[in-house]
Amino acid sequence: MIEVSGLRKTYGDFAAVVDSDFAVDDGEVFGIVGPNGAGKTTTLKVIAGLVEPTDGEVTVAGFDAGDSEMRRHLGFLPEESPLYEEMTALSYLRFFADLYDVPREVADERIGAALDRLELDHRERRLGDVSKGMKRKVAIARSLVNDPDVLVYDEPASGLDPVTTNSVLAFTRELRETGKTVVFSAHNLYHVESVCDRVAVMNEGRIVARGSVDEIRERHGETTYRVFTDVEPTATAALADLDATTEAVGDRFRTAVPSMDAVAAVREAVADAGGEVVDIRSREPSLEDVFLDIVGRPMPGRYTGDRGGDSLGVERNSDSDESDEGDEGDETSATATEATE
Ligand code: ATP
Repeated sequence: MIEVSGLRKTYGDFAAVVDSDFAVDDGEVFGIVGPNGAGKTTTLKVIAGLVEPTDGEVTVAGFDAGDSEMRRHLGFLPEESPLYEEMTALSYLRFFADLYDVPREVADERIGAALDRLELDHRERRLGDVSKGMKRKVAIARSLVNDPDVLVYDEPASGLDPVTTNSVLAFTRELRETGKTVVFSAHNLYHVESVCDRVAVMNEGRIVARGSVDEIRERHGETTYRVFTDVEPTATAALADLDATTEAVGDRFRTAVPSMDAVAAVREAVADAGGEVVDIRSREPSLEDVFLDIVGRPMPGRYTGDRGGDSLGVERNSDSDESDEGDEGDETSATATEATE
C-alpha cells in the first residue's frame, strides 16, 4: 500500500531523513518511533504529500505521494491540529466532507459512526469550548470523512489522559479491522507495542531497526540470565572472560550472564566452590530497553559532507544492563534442571 524507497529529505546541508526504505502492507498498522528530531514527522509528511522529498520515491495506493488522486485515498492527522473554534464538531466535519464532495447523507452517516465509536459527546458544542481529548477525536474523525484507504497519524494520542489515550489507540487498532492501512508515529513505546503490527525505529534521520516488535527485540535485544547459587562461584578464567560479576542476594549469590553457555560456566565455577545452581531466571529486554540501546549508539553525521557508514553497522552499547531484581522487563524463572537440560 505504501512504498518508501531511498527517501532523503534535506534542508540546506542538514538531512532530516536519510536513505529511508520501508513498505507498509494493506491493512497493516505500522509505527514509526524515535527520539525528538529523528525524522518521523518529516517521513509522515512526505507520505501525505505535504513535503516534497529531495531524493527517493514514495507511493501510496499506487500513486506518487502528493498526487491529487492519492489525496483522495489518504487521511492525515498532524501532530498539532488546530480546529475552527467557532464551529461545532458536526458543522466542522460536514464542512470537510463537503470539501471532498461527499454527499451529505453519506457524510452524516460516516461522521456519526466515527463519533459514536470515538464516544464523542457534545457534538453541537462550539469546538473552542471542548476538551483537548475531544478536539483530538474530532481531528481523527476529520481524517476519515473521505473514507480513505490509508491513514497517516502523527502522534495520535500524545498529551491525552490515559482513558482517552486508550480509546484513541483502540480506535486506531480497529481501523485495521475495517481494511484501512495506518502509519503512525509515537513516542510512547508501549502504545506502539500494543497497536502496531510492525515498527520502524528512526534515529537522526535514519531507520536503524524495523520489523515486528518481537523481531526487533530478538535481533537487537539481549536476553540476560541470572544464575542463583548457594555459594559464591570460584573466580574461574571462564567467568573472568565473561566479565560476570556476582552479588550476594540474601543467603544466595546471583551472577548475571548473557548466554546459556555462560550459565554452564557458572555451573562449573560453583561446583568448583562446592556448591550448586539453585535457580536460573531469564530476562527478556522490553521494547524500551531495546530502543534505548539502539538510539544510544553513535550515528554517522547528519550534515552533507560528513555522512558515511551504515547505521546498522554501528557498535552496540555494552553497558545497558541493569542490576536490580524486580525492575522492568519480562523475567521468567526456571529451575536449574529445566533450564539446563
Ligand atoms: P519530534 O518527535 O520532536 O516531533 P521528529 O522525529 O518528528 O521529531 P522531524 O520533525 O521530522 O522529527 O524533524 C527532523 C529534523 O529535521 C529535526 O532536526 C528538525 O529540526 C528538522 N526539520 C524539520 N523540518 C524542517 C524545516 N522545514 N527546516 C529545517 N529543518 C527542519
